[in-house]
Amino acid sequence: MKYELPSLPYSYNALEPYISAQIMEIHHARHHKGYVDGANAALEKLLKAREGAEVDVKAVLKEYSFNLGGHILHTMFWQNMKPNGGGEPGGELLDEINKVFGSFAVFKKLFTQAAVSVEGSGWAMLVYDELRDSLSIIQVEKHNLNVVPGLIPLLVIDVWEHAYYLQYQNQRAKFVDAWWNVVNWSDVEKRFAKAKSQARGLI
Ligand code: MN
Repeated sequence: MKYELPSLPYSYNALEPYISAQIMEIHHARHHKGYVDGANAALEKLLKAREGAEVDVKAVLKEYSFNLGGHILHTMFWQNMKPNGGGEPGGELLDEINKVFGSFAVFKKLFTQAAVSVEGSGWAMLVYDELRDSLSIIQVEKHNLNVVPGLIPLLVIDVWEHAYYLQYQNQRAKFVDAWWNVVNWSDVEKRFAKAKSQARGLI
């Protein structure tokens, strides 16, 4: 079975004016597709290695981690957004955010700082940490560096330049501010409930 590029759950122009149709199309149809193809190519090499082919294992495993990380994070990123999104979460997720960060405003500020300050290309993420049954914010470089095993991503933002440059040029902070208007909180709430109920026994 191969990795597959999922369709977007909305049209390319659905997130305008916050994210342009041009960015969405290039990001999904070219960048994300590139990661899916890259993950499949790496997987193919790994399967051939099992059949005795000589492969540069170190290089292929790096490709696999980078591209598969990219595929998974982009798929989540699309689902984490929707037209007419934004606002605040509700239910247990809001309760937990208030408990962990003090208020939604503090969470938003810290998440924004994490996103804006990623060095080079990467992501900020709100994650569920089953060891503490709690939430954290982490920063990921590229698609796969600084990842902590077992932390479950709930809300992710892509701050690679390809995610915003055509519309916001070098003003990443403006993109992040605009992005809060398209966050699909019901998707994040569902992910939180699932992570809480299913993630157990990591260590
Ligand atoms: Mn991207």
